[in-house]
Amino acid sequence: MPEAPKEQQKATDYSVAENNKKTLEFIEDVTAKADDVQKRVLAEIICRNAHVEYLKRHGLNGNIDRETFKKIMPVITYEDIQPDINRIANGDKSHILCSQPISEFLTSSGTSGGERKLMPTIDEELGRRSLLYSLLMPVMSQFVPGLDKGKGMYFLFIKSEAKTPGGLVARPVLTSYYKSSHFKERPYDPYTNYTSPNETILCPDSYQSMYSQMLCGLCQNNQVLRVGAVFASGFIRAIRFLEKHWSLLCNDIRTGTLNSQITDPSVREAVMKILKPDAKLADFIEQECSRQSWQGIIIRLWPNTKYIDVIVTGTMSQYIPNLDYYSNGLPLVCTMYASSECYFGVNLNPLCKPSEVSYTLIPTMAYFEFLPVHKSNGTSKSVPIPKSLNEKEHQELIDLVDVKLGQDYELVVTTYAGLYRYRVGDVLRVAGFKNSAPQFNFICRKNVVLSIDSDKTDEVELQNAVKNAVSHLMPFDAQLNEYTSCADTTTIPGHYVLYWELSLNGSTPIPPSVFEDCCLTIEESLNSVYRQGRVSDKSIGPLEIKIVEAGTFDKLMDYAISLGASINQYKTPRCVKFAPIIELLNFRVVSCYFSPKCPKWTPGHKQWNDMV
Ligand code: AMP
Repeated sequence: MPEAPKEQQKATDYSVAENNKKTLEFIEDVTAKADDVQKRVLAEIICRNAHVEYLKRHGLNGNIDRETFKKIMPVITYEDIQPDINRIANGDKSHILCSQPISEFLTSSGTSGGERKLMPTIDEELGRRSLLYSLLMPVMSQFVPGLDKGKGMYFLFIKSEAKTPGGLVARPVLTSYYKSSHFKERPYDPYTNYTSPNETILCPDSYQSMYSQMLCGLCQNNQVLRVGAVFASGFIRAIRFLEKHWSLLCNDIRTGTLNSQITDPSVREAVMKILKPDAKLADFIEQECSRQSWQGIIIRLWPNTKYIDVIVTGTMSQYIPNLDYYSNGLPLVCTMYASSECYFGVNLNPLCKPSEVSYTLIPTMAYFEFLPVHKSNGTSKSVPIPKSLNEKEHQELIDLVDVKLGQDYELVVTTYAGLYRYRVGDVLRVAGFKNSAPQFNFICRKNVVLSIDSDKTDEVELQNAVKNAVSHLMPFDAQLNEYTSCADTTTIPGHYVLYWELSLNGSTPIPPSVFEDCCLTIEESLNSVYRQGRVSDKSIGPLEIKIVEAGTFDKLMDYAISLGASINQYKTPRCVKFAPIIELLNFRVVSCYFSPKCPKWTPGHKQWNDMV
């Protein structure tokens, strides 16, 4: 490749360095003045929305001071504003939550009544999301220099979208972002120079999208300096894809042609600009992939990789051992913390250990408040926090700069797009401060017991699903005595496992097909994010029921008590994570059954589909 002219090179180096400096100054500035910025953000949000129905309903009357806002406005959950959201979804264009037009709904992976929550958003929020993204690489470049000299191999995907009855688009936040001009028409920037052409990311067919992104990543393997996906589960899935398809990929690289399974014309055109016949590269990949062990495959195939950029905090930490294995322990970097409601913050110390990751909330993104979560026995409460808060709890909400080191809080946001004092559902712990802005460890999502990908299943949902399934056992006079569950990520994709202990009173043996029906009924009963993961994204494998021998749950209790649990208060955990407990259960398994097919899933909310 011809060398770039020296002058231009210098200019680029200079502008990268200059831009990094400006960005880091911005972070210094907003974190130093965090409280002032927060005051301003709140005043701006209330001021421009003073006349919206929701604020008028609560009698805020245009008051922009924090004290009045905190006194008057209720702290809410999704269910409290669902009627307003439904009106917007059904086409009511009056200013209900926000003075600016709602441009679309972002469909959260958090669910309500089994369906994705709908988060209203406005056009200008795309700018705020872009701003948060723009902070990531200048921060990273302080720790890993030279990242502007190569490419990032990121596996990024869009998901299906639907229309609300009123005609608004409803889709996940990343789909919205990748389809926006902020992403598609981004000006040249060495830090957003990816191996995947936009067309491959924007391809709605998940196989073609993954195949073409992997192919482009392999073709440019020596230029790749960092690899990643949004969540760890997504990156593991890409490696698994390579395990299955490397032979076909090598064939395409050898011949410089794209096989006929890739039918999307725009993908073909974009890939053909990168793909050239390269027998040497094909031989090399073939040799590496056909080795017995896949340990270190990432650094073998992409030898200049400095780190893996994936979220491994929260439930994603279950994938750390897999990532370590495939990368021979490359740094795992969690850069940001965000949601459909709002993008929150960045990790200012990205090379830290995954267990030490903390996110600094950027005070310009939204107005943040914090509801203290009281700890018992040194651990965060696992009991559901009551739906609505009493007067005292209401007043307990704390401002960003006033949180206390070591204390746990539930995050509450007021956004430019029309959420006011909205409980996000995440529990965070204060780990330190950047100037006056706190840095938080992500502790957990409230109430979630099982998660493989972006699915979040809570105990009540699991209980209902199990209740529906056990009806299949009735004709056999069998009862479910006890159950628990775990997310098994030793398989790729991972899957839910339920351990069942039965008492069998009938004389007819229960045929395997009945247990398989139980598996499917549970899957059918779970929320739409789970079912989408099974059907469309294929990011979750078939659910498994493992029948354990009689007395197993007594053994589990004995074990918990030996570890210090109180005999009086012992309750069977509905989800287990601790390896010795999983071992105890697995040791007593008498038979296993898998869901025989995928549950039903269609894009959009069930109610909308029922209307057509
Ligand atoms: P969604 O609304 O579907 O975009 O999901 C957002 C949720 O994903 C957040 O509220 C968190 O529970 C979780 N999440 C996002 N970023 C992180 C992160 N860096 N670490 C752990 N969990 C995260």
